[in-house]
Amino acid sequence: MKTIGLIGGMSWESTVPYYQIINETVREKLGGLHSAKIILHSVEFDEIERCQSMNQWDKAADILGSAARGLELAGADFILICTNTMHKVFHEVQSFVSVPVYHIAELTADELEKNAIARVGLLGTKYTMKEDFYRKVLTDRHIDVLIPDSEEDISLVNTVIFEELCLGIIKDSSRREYLRIIEDLTRRGAQGIIMGCTEIGLLVHQEDTDTPLFDTTYIHAKAAAEKALTD
Ligand code: GLU
Repeated sequence: MKTIGLIGGMSWESTVPYYQIINETVREKLGGLHSAKIILHSVEFDEIERCQSMNQWDKAADILGSAARGLELAGADFILICTNTMHKVFHEVQSFVSVPVYHIAELTADELEKNAIARVGLLGTKYTMKEDFYRKVLTDRHIDVLIPDSEEDISLVNTVIFEELCLGIIKDSSRREYLRIIEDLTRRGAQGIIMGCTEIGLLVHQEDTDTPLFDTTYIHAKAAAEKALTD
């Protein structure tokens, strides 16, 4: 079994499900007392969030790159960056290590292709929704990406992430707003929705909507467990 390196803590609320999903997947596949080999480097999220909001992405890349190097030295066979947003510095982080870093959007695109989704709605932080670094991975694979069509809704989705979900605050009123936005995206032609922030799965669940949801935390974590067992 390969050893999985996780760069987590962004936020730690979403690193908990990573740990659980990876171990559950290994138990499902191998049974008995089997569990995953995991090394976690959990960062101080306040430091990372400051880099984001102050546009200091090079500094953030150095922090995550050093974490990746530490994981490699500690024996990780491959690495996950447990947040969508920080894939903005994916290539920089990858350049710190010789083991692979598995890209959350590439693995999500694999899932979308398996489900024949050609047009998808994307929810995440403002960086993930509005900038090119994430959407381009999808459009390069011929998947059309829709985001909420008003600045107000983009800001709402982003604010709920940083001011509620990353703090472990789950509100029914925010779930209703997310579901309204998911409905809008569906009406505009989205055949599915990427929950492109690793905390959104704490708020919205498949049983809340008929539109297929693609939870990046689940996709990323499950793929890692499978790679640990089969690659
Ligand atoms: N976990 C979130 C994501 O998947 C947001 C936190 C962050 O800014 O890294 O994008």
